[in-house]
Amino acid sequence: MSPQPTTTRTVLRPVSPPVLDQRFVVTGEGVEAMIVVMQTGSNDTQIQAVIERLEEHHLRGHLVRGAERTVIGVVGAAIPPTLREELEHFSGVKETLRITQPYKLVSRELRPIDTVVDVRGVKVGGNRCVVIAGPCSVESEEQIITTARAVREAGASMLRGGAFKPRSSPYTFRGLGELGLRLLAQAREETGLPIVTEVMTPNDVDLVARYADVLQIGARNMQNYQLLEEVGRTGMPVLLKRGLSATIEEWLLSAEYVVAQGNPNVILCERGIRTFETATRNTLDLNAVALARRRTHLPVIVDPSHGTGKWYLAPPLALASIAAGADGLIIEVHPDPDRARSDGGQSLNPENFAALMPKLAAVAAAVGRSL
Ligand code: PEP
Ligand code: MN
Repeated sequence: MSPQPTTTRTVLRPVSPPVLDQRFVVTGEGVEAMIVVMQTGSNDTQIQAVIERLEEHHLRGHLVRGAERTVIGVVGAAIPPTLREELEHFSGVKETLRITQPYKLVSRELRPIDTVVDVRGVKVGGNRCVVIAGPCSVESEEQIITTARAVREAGASMLRGGAFKPRSSPYTFRGLGELGLRLLAQAREETGLPIVTEVMTPNDVDLVARYADVLQIGARNMQNYQLLEEVGRTGMPVLLKRGLSATIEEWLLSAEYVVAQGNPNVILCERGIRTFETATRNTLDLNAVALARRRTHLPVIVDPSHGTGKWYLAPPLALASIAAGADGLIIEVHPDPDRARSDGGQSLNPENFAALMPKLAAVAAAVGRSL
């Protein structure tokens, strides 16, 4: 046995001062935010002058042009108290307002009109409700192509399918990975349907973005802030599912992470929350749909498949979602649900999906929208 050391020596190294990363510097008051409202008819030079003055203060202006008004949103821990007043004297500026909600860029205070996210020409938000359909997981070429054809035939405007699957048990099917992405791209080629697929880690964002049209952030990852920033940086459409136990405010703050990267293309998705109820997989929170539509300008869609966990409950809840003001739906459809490798019990077969579509159109019409 080696002898016990009798003396210990502590080596003191000079400590370099910590480097402050500005992203993480927040004042005790929290992040400040304001809107600079431009006068109707203000021109680009006037807008540019405001943006440049903000840059002098190391602040980024988010320009939001609307049919009725153009505003510049400013979020930052370091908005000098005098800046608001200073900007109000700029030519072309009508007024400056404080944003009172904790989320800023996604709030309706910043942008009263609805954001429309364009996915290869399919518009999410606005008058027309979208239907995204497809299997929980991509399982084979035949399975995804058959499903894509069937859902397109029935009137769906996008195809869903997971290649990277977050599963509660590590022993269950976790997706085909890149092969699944290639099969989705093939299905898009054959049907023209844009594809929605999940990305689970910041490392996979580049790979998934090469194939997907919409990057899905799963419920379990709603608060993976590095992932949110990474998908924000792609500028691509992002489908942000609500976390299993997330409040509406937390959900909107997660959307803020994406938009703060300069990516306004966020689609929110209510997919049911955990409650005391065990008769259904989750409790679909339609309050959240109607409330989120008021609080944010981002489109809000509903996933009645995960929201209920039962195929026969998905159609009535899909209809209720459209009635509650949802901008669309994402529904699991499998050609042979009994043999699905994930979520078969909540997947519609193509016949039941096709039967649902005209009913959705009728409800949409009843609330002044179309499908
Ligand atoms: C899915 O869409 O298949 C999925 C895993 O959804 P969620 O993240 O809402 O559970
Ligand atoms: Mn699923």
